[in-house]
Amino acid sequence: MSQYKMWIGGKWVDAESGKTYPVFNPATGEEITQVPLGGLADVDKAVEAARKALPIWSKKSQMERSNIVLNIAALLRENAKECGRIDCQEHGTPAKMAEFLAADTPGWFEWAAYNARSMMGHTIPVSSETVVYMQREPVGVVAIITPWNLPLLMIFQKLGPALALGNTCVIKPPSVNSLGALKLAEILEKVNLPPGTVNIITGPGGTVGEALASHPRVDMVAFTGSSETGKRIMTLAGPTVKRLQLELGGKNPVIVLDDADVNMAVNGMARQQCFNSGQICGSPGRFYIHEKVYDEFVEKFVIAMKNMVVGDPNDEKTALGPLVSAAHRNRVEAYIKSGVDEGAKLILGGKRPTAPPLDKGFYVMPTVFTHVTQNMKIAREEIFGPVSCIMEHFNSDDKVIELANDNVYGLTSWVWTKDMARGMRFANEIQAGTVVLGQGRGGGPEFPWGGYKESGIGKEGSLYGMLEFTNLKCVQVDLVAPPK
Ligand code: NDP
Repeated sequence: MSQYKMWIGGKWVDAESGKTYPVFNPATGEEITQVPLGGLADVDKAVEAARKALPIWSKKSQMERSNIVLNIAALLRENAKECGRIDCQEHGTPAKMAEFLAADTPGWFEWAAYNARSMMGHTIPVSSETVVYMQREPVGVVAIITPWNLPLLMIFQKLGPALALGNTCVIKPPSVNSLGALKLAEILEKVNLPPGTVNIITGPGGTVGEALASHPRVDMVAFTGSSETGKRIMTLAGPTVKRLQLELGGKNPVIVLDDADVNMAVNGMARQQCFNSGQICGSPGRFYIHEKVYDEFVEKFVIAMKNMVVGDPNDEKTALGPLVSAAHRNRVEAYIKSGVDEGAKLILGGKRPTAPPLDKGFYVMPTVFTHVTQNMKIAREEIFGPVSCIMEHFNSDDKVIELANDNVYGLTSWVWTKDMARGMRFANEIQAGTVVLGQGRGGGPEFPWGGYKESGIGKEGSLYGMLEFTNLKCVQVDLVAPPK
């Protein structure tokens, strides 16, 4: 038995099997607690609870649903300190950033609640004897499957719009850090949600995730995670033709042109590379630097990366905490080794810190490679750590656009130039869901986020993202009775 329980059908429950698994603190390697190891029987229970709640929740007025979603946001704000503490403890998020995220992310619920109330419909002009209109309806039972890299935000981005628009949900949080999701369940218990409207099951992707993705009584899978798992989910969801929203991986190009403000590019991109220890789908993945500014950029970038303070996430000065788990650190280290083996030049980092207390946690020091070529593994695959890959320099806009697009991913990208007309050509030609000219303004509920190619299907955020959680129905009404 675990002190933590899953939240199914409005009740706190253990796994049917009674089994549990451990959650670790990545900064110390110590076990924090055990959580229930959900399985197939728990998935069936949760999906049935969500199905039962669907007619009740979806038939509430939009105002009532939106008010409940606003209550969730208000309680999350009241509990922001605790949510930040959990994030710092189970994910290793530096305390300052964890605090910022906990205060900022309830905004996803507020945004969804307000926007759901202003979803107006359309009519189609046909004749004076017929009214044809369209209405948005919930998709139904939505399985929300999320990754570990921003454990609560990844859930909120989907749960806010899904709930506000009348869907019921079964959430499978990441197994390495699911305590935040169980804290969310405590908050959901306090608002007036019909039992089963939201269910939270902890357990592995290989069982709980697969069962949800293939379950005949689940209507939609809203997934964020790796492209590999996204493809598996497409296969599992195929036989029942489920709606899919897939936010997947990225190997994002950064292009620094010869007229760029190099200092701004260096500072902006070093911060971006180390944000969340590089465990961000939108992290810089490949740096293409124009030959005229290459030496200056590399020299300054290495200094900026070296200056990132690696440390205990509880320390306010820390910019770079540990990676999420020992397994993920091994994965990042295997990429570093492959870079060295394939002939890239390791000019910074590549190692773990050796002095206590950091030697116990799952840290990797900020790392920079140069002389990376297009076909190396580290240039093609997502590393998901504080590792920068500086490609060979370029001298032609045409060529660098071709190189930037030569990858299976298409999530985001940066272009640094002072000439916005030149920049606009890049904006038009880069195959990615987001192109940032300069530093950009980050993200948030107003911004559509989602990739091209193997980076995903559908959008999150913005009205486009909200509409993913609806079905569009066309209703045709004859106003005049047919002649007898
Ligand atoms: P994974 O794909 O390994 O896991 C994501 C979620 O899917 C987890 O809850 C996992 O469970 C579950 N899962 C694993 N296998 C299956 C399966 N066979 N069927 C159903 N569910 C499964 O990704 P990571 O957690 O490692 O996250 C990192 C990845 O997420 C990176 O590729 C990153 O780019 C991507 N990402 C994309 C974002 C975007 O917006 N495009 C944003 C953030 C991350 P368990 O935890 O038990 O393994």
